[in-house]
Amino acid sequence: MIPRIGPTGVTALLISILFSACVTTGPGGEKSFILISDADEANLGKQVDSEVRKENKVLPDTAWQAYVNEVGGRIVKVCDRPNLDYQFHVIASDQVNAFALPGGHVYFYAGLLRLMDNESEMAAVMAHEISHVVARHSVKSLQATYGGVIGLQLLLGNKSEGAAGQLAGAVLGTAMSGYSRSHELEADKFGVYYMQQAGYNPNAALTMFDKLGKLTGDKKRGFFENLSASHPDTPVRIEKVQAQVAAMPRSVDTLPLYEDRYQKMKKRLPLVVSGVEPPPAPDSTKQGK
Ligand SMILES: [Zn+2]
Repeated sequence: MIPRIGPTGVTALLISILFSACVTTGPGGEKSFILISDADEANLGKQVDSEVRKENKVLPDTAWQAYVNEVGGRIVKVCDRPNLDYQFHVIASDQVNAFALPGGHVYFYAGLLRLMDNESEMAAVMAHEISHVVARHSVKSLQATYGGVIGLQLLLGNKSEGAAGQLAGAVLGTAMSGYSRSHELEADKFGVYYMQQAGYNPNAALTMFDKLGKLTGDKKRGFFENLSASHPDTPVRIEKVQAQVAAMPRSVDTLPLYEDRYQKMKKRLPLVVSGVEPPPAPDSTKQGK
């Protein structure tokens, strides 16, 4: 599958690696060793986006699509990686979930939007997802999976369907089934910082996290990308965000939640979007006895 590579090819690879290596991946100029160029990352994201669209239906409401792009754009402006072509999408599904792809595609499920009560809560989830992109968490986990720099560069350069599918599958797996514990904590931390920088009330991150924490019930499951995965640190995540918001100047408490704006949009969401009927009310079931 992997093509042979001559000495000149190796030199070219090493040169491109040196130039794409050390990049800013967080607030305060935080740097990481990154081996995939922005262009390769964008291509990979585009490819996985088309897979996501094959499997999922986008909500056919241009007002909602415009709304998520407006709120997302506000956070992108203050983030540490504003130059990507970010695109925000609403998926017509009742799942409570959101995820981001490398290159800047961010997806919100209608089920999650329905759980929110104001725009700042949406901004909290959005800033968390944007932070995964800024910190290049997908890229880092690809680097870890394919370890060898050369192997990864070859896969990226390999236009065969097998290699492309292998990479796309790995990316989608990480984006949808959850990142490592440290990556989640990092996205939470950056996210709360970015949302506040964008003028959103960071207390909304707490109300949002609290709702998601309760939803996961036993608190043994994570939220956002990995609702179904075993992820035992939800209480830790909530505690850390509480501490972060508590350490901010109290002027943040007066930042707007944009409740009216959000409620107006929320009314536009269909009650059921995935075609699955809600379970019947308990008193209407006549089973047993
Ligand atoms: Zn996350």
